[in-house]
Amino acid sequence: MAKSKKISEQEHPLIFHFMNKERLTRYEIAAIFALIAEILAKRLRVHNFSEKELSATFEEVGKLLPLKVDPKCPVCASPYRWQYELYYLSCDGNLEWVLSATRSMNEPHITLKQLKNHFQKHFNPQLDISKTSQKSLEMITKREGPDFVEKVLSHFLFTDNFLEKLEKKLEQIVDKQDEIPSKEADLLKSLLITFLRYANWLRDFSQKNYQEVDKLGKLFPFEL
Ligand SMILES: [Zn+2]
Repeated sequence: MAKSKKISEQEHPLIFHFMNKERLTRYEIAAIFALIAEILAKRLRVHNFSEKELSATFEEVGKLLPLKVDPKCPVCASPYRWQYELYYLSCDGNLEWVLSATRSMNEPHITLKQLKNHFQKHFNPQLDISKTSQKSLEMITKREGPDFVEKVLSHFLFTDNFLEKLEKKLEQIVDKQDEIPSKEADLLKSLLITFLRYANWLRDFSQKNYQEVDKLGKLFPFEL
C-alpha cells in the first residue's frame, strides 16, 4: 500500500499550519468543528440514508468530534455547558452544587441523574483539545482528500458568517431528506446544531481573547 502523501505547505497551507502548530487557538478549533459539519452535509447530499447508514454516520461523527457531544444529553446540549463544567471543577465535583447552578441558569429540566451521566461519560478535564482536533483533521484529510479540507477551512477562515450559513444549509438539507426516518432526522439535526453551537461559542470567544488552549479548563471564559 502506498504511504500517505505528506501535506505540503505550498499546496495546502492551512492544513499544514493547523497540523504543525503546538496548540490551536479556539478559532482554529472552531474551524475543525465546522469542517466536520460540512462533511455531514456533503454525505447527506450524496446518500439516501437508510437507518443503518445513519447510525454508522453518527458513530463516525462521534469519533471525529474534538469534544464528546451526545445530542440526547441535556447538559451537552445546553448553551451553559461550559459554565456547568467550570462549576463542577471549582466545587470538587459536588453535583448538588452544579444542580443549583442549572436552576440559576433557568434550566430546571436538567436532573441530578443527567448531570451525573454527563460528568461520567462526556467530560474529560485532561483532554487536550488541540491534539484531539488535529487528530480529527488528519483523519478527515485522509478520507476526504486534502483539497476538500483546505477549501472548507479557507471558507471558514475568510467568511465571517460562515457558521450561520452552514447551519441554515444543514437545516435545509435535513428538512428535504424525506427518506430519513423523522426520529433519526430530529436526532441528526440536534447533533448538528449542538456542535455548531460549540463552534460558534469557540469562535465568539476567540474574538475577545486569542489565548491558546491546551486543556479543557482553559476553555472557560469566566473567572472563578
Ligand atoms: Zn453530556
